[in-house]
Order: sequence, then structure tokens, then C-alpha cells
Amino acid sequence: MDAAATISRLTLRARQAIHRDALGFVAERYGLDAAQCEALAAIPVRWKRARGSSAFYLRAAHGFAGPHILVRVPGGARVRWHTYRRARARFATPPGGIDLDVPTFAGAVLVHELTHALQHGVAGEPKRRYSEVETTENELEYVRRRTPDAYARLVPVLPKPRRRKAGPAAPPSALAALRAAVLRMAARVVGSLTSAAPPAPPPPRSRRRTRSPRPTGS
Ligand SMILES: [Zn+2]
Repeated sequence: MDAAATISRLTLRARQAIHRDALGFVAERYGLDAAQCEALAAIPVRWKRARGSSAFYLRAAHGFAGPHILVRVPGGARVRWHTYRRARARFATPPGGIDLDVPTFAGAVLVHELTHALQHGVAGEPKRRYSEVETTENELEYVRRRTPDAYARLVPVLPKPRRRKAGPAAPPSALAALRAAVLRMAARVVGSLTSAAPPAPPPPRSRRRTRSPRPTGS
């Protein structure tokens, strides 16, 4: 990867080096045997130097007879990396993404899509549950090993708080009841002054970037 780490052009040699590196990472992570490694390595990869989602396709399409992977890498020497936000993966890229060099970015994308291939049982191993937690965890670990500085910029993803079951309401104390009555009165006054105003729009939801569209085969 050392030579590839300085290049931004995805030459055939660079693509092959990135592909080998991602395959090696996944093989080690899952303890794949030689036959499984071979099956995974045989999945053709279509490279595109363009923005947009990458994907693992289970079925024939795009001129391929079977499973294949599309890797999209935007132009430029450094590209923005966005992960899924999954609490069980514990970390994610911040809203603006994280800058990565092209080989690390492409490697992380490949690790993600190769993980989907494993989930579909393409390499002959038992199928795994389709999950973007597993793909994200693998991507994060790949980047942690290749580019610790980028890994350090990830942000924690906290689980959404669960709504507590509503128990029987405690009877209000006299003071709390008085306070509530005053607040209700104040709300009516404010309401009468501003009743013509439309309700404030909800805050914009941060759009989740999806690395892969839904795989065609699932
Ligand atoms: Zn995915």
C-alpha cells in the first residue's frame, strides 16, 4: 500500500493493490480458508471515478453474469468518506465526512461491499445476516489500521433513548398544580398573540448517506 498511498489516479496497478489489500483484510478478519478467499477474489469489481454510491450486486447486471461489485471513487487526491450511523457500530463519520486518501477510501468501500458478499454467502461460507452494522464495523477497523489519524476524527454514535413506559402519574403537589395553572394561562395569552403564526418547522434531519443502495438481490 505504500506506493499506492501517494497516488490519486486509479491506475490498473493501483486498483489491483487496493483490491488485494481489501481482500487480505477481510480474509484475516473472518479467518477465510483458501477456497473462500478465491471465491471472494473472483467477484469482479467495476471501478468508476465518480461521485455516488458503491454497491454489491448479487444478480447478473451491467454485463456481469453474476455477483459483482461497483466501486465509485470521486475525483481528486483526497475524497470525503461517509459511513452509516449505527449505534451498534459505536462510531461514524461526522456530518461533513472525513478526508481520506484515495487508496484508503477505495479500500474501505471494497471492504464494505466484500462484507455484503460474505453476508449473501457468495464465498461459500454460511450466509450471514444482512447488516450495515457489520459493514460499518469492518470499514471502521480497516481505516483504523490504515489511517489512524482519520480514525481519530470519528464521532461516537449513541443509541437513541428509549421512550419510557408511562406509569401512573403522581398526583401534583399544590405548588406544582399552581405553577401548571400559571403556565397554562401564560400559554393562552401568548397563543392569542401569535395564533396566526405558522408552527416552527422541525429542525432539518441530517441526511443519512448510504454507501450502498439496497442490493439488487435481497
Ligand atoms: Zn452496505
